[in-house]
Amino acid sequence: MVYNFNAGPSILPTEVFEEAAVAVLNYDNSGLSILEYGHRTPAFEGIMQEARQLIKELMHLDDNHEVLFLHGGASTQFMQVPMNLLDVKDIAAYTDTGVWAAKAIKEAKLFGKPEVVCSSKEKGYTFLPKDFAVPNDCKYLHITTNNTIYGTQWQKIPVTSNSLIADMSSDILSRELDFNAFDLIYAGAQKNIGAAGVTIVVVNKNILGKIKRNIPTMMDYRNHIAEGSMLNTPPVFAVYTCMLTLRWLKKLGGVKAIEKINNEKAALLYAEIDRNNLFTGIVEKEDRSKMNVTFVMNDKNKEAAFLQFANDNNIIGIKGHRSAGGFRASLYNAMPLSSVKLLVDLMKEFERNN
Ligand SMILES: *Cc1c(COP(=O)(O)O)cnc(C)c1O
Repeated sequence: MVYNFNAGPSILPTEVFEEAAVAVLNYDNSGLSILEYGHRTPAFEGIMQEARQLIKELMHLDDNHEVLFLHGGASTQFMQVPMNLLDVKDIAAYTDTGVWAAKAIKEAKLFGKPEVVCSSKEKGYTFLPKDFAVPNDCKYLHITTNNTIYGTQWQKIPVTSNSLIADMSSDILSRELDFNAFDLIYAGAQKNIGAAGVTIVVVNKNILGKIKRNIPTMMDYRNHIAEGSMLNTPPVFAVYTCMLTLRWLKKLGGVKAIEKINNEKAALLYAEIDRNNLFTGIVEKEDRSKMNVTFVMNDKNKEAAFLQFANDNNIIGIKGHRSAGGFRASLYNAMPLSSVKLLVDLMKEFERNN
């Protein structure tokens, strides 16, 4: 047994791995692998429909919000969002709260005028700036709800009269939010929803079609909506895996139920970081992420030994991102509380022995 704390691609529910594995060999007793299954078959159209419907249901989305499963990762959304929503002279507000946010800003410059309304870069992205103003004439405000690398998370989503757009790659469906308050949400699936290769986009269709630019067919959200997210061959296996995870989440009791567990996991690990004399959390307490917990050792020289100790006990993926250092334990939806307990026990044991 290996305990996978990787930031992404990451752990998924065991039953999802098992069902997906069966489907690779023989999907639904069809004699065909899901990998060779036609995307225009009624069976796959059913999978796509169910996956989209489950997102709608789990997020309590209204009828203005459409759900798409697209290619290209969250990174493609960095450009697809401004391409669809900004004319060259349009201003959009961006929050510079981490490496991913900065990448979104860079791409927006290709299509409009992103204005950085706040930044925590000077302090190594270890907090979230709260008192910033968004100019009224901005087309939208873009936030990264959870900053995967540094381990910060907006515990209160900024209130704005502007259109709100969010990169939710690393905390989508992990906590209850008013998802209808967002005009566009995007998330690479490989952190909290499924296999790499597909991106979830939730978009309020009323914000589309308001600009003059000609948009390439594959980049225009409206074409994907019109075709039920089947404009071209979707990543069949990745969508199937998402559907299985979404079914699992629904069965568990939905977002409300998983949020309770996620809170418990994060509280347990942060309590140990704060109690244990060897470790210190990296970010401001009020901005701590419940998905990616980042911490360092007070004595840097012990970090390699702790990492080795964790690895020897089958805990993998806790080395921090190279730009943040230290450690990062990712506690996505599929991570059981028992695995977090194991990590905490190891931290205690390491303290006793050092
Ligand atoms: C992982 C991640 C991305 C990049 O996702 P890709 O699907 O690899 O493009 C973007 N934003 C955030 C917040 C992430 O965690």
